[in-house]
Amino acid sequence: MIHRIDIIETSPCMADKSKLKGITVADCDLTPLIPYINAELPKADYKKESESISFKKGIIRFTIMKNNINVTRFDTVTHLRELLEWVMDFLNDIDSRKDKITPDYRTFVHPAPPLIYKELPQTNCGKCGQKSCIAFAGRLSRRKIDVEECSPLFLLENEEHLANIKELFAGGKPL
Ligand code: SF4
Repeated sequence: MIHRIDIIETSPCMADKSKLKGITVADCDLTPLIPYINAELPKADYKKESESISFKKGIIRFTIMKNNINVTRFDTVTHLRELLEWVMDFLNDIDSRKDKITPDYRTFVHPAPPLIYKELPQTNCGKCGQKSCIAFAGRLSRRKIDVEECSPLFLLENEEHLANIKELFAGGKPL
């Protein structure tokens, strides 16, 4: 159970200088909770080697390792405090339901982008917000974009290609 999270440091975000990133510390080790967070958040990125997990709430990214909770892309320190209140409630809720959650130790697999590209419509239509299908393939491989963002892939005529892409990710956390 977390009782408090202290802000250690804030600084400008590398990727977006108009936003901030922060290092914060909880009053307990969060490592035992990580597989349960992974089970609750299918899109969270769990890394076994570093025993860390990161997940997004909108554009905000939280990364948890040991006692640390790193937060990126917030606006102000007040905003960060609100986010920390939210994440503390969120993590304590998971902790209180641990006996009802099956811990998930699966990680993401990262298929080679050309293998994903082969199954995409290859029209470079930009509906996914990317400039090209190969850019989408690269981001999907790193799990930085959701497969649903490529709406043409969900047309009936592409059913088999979608199934092939899902197969590429088999063995890890599903798409
Ligand atoms: S929406 Fe799909 S088809 Fe269009 S550019 Fe993105 S990946 Fe390619």
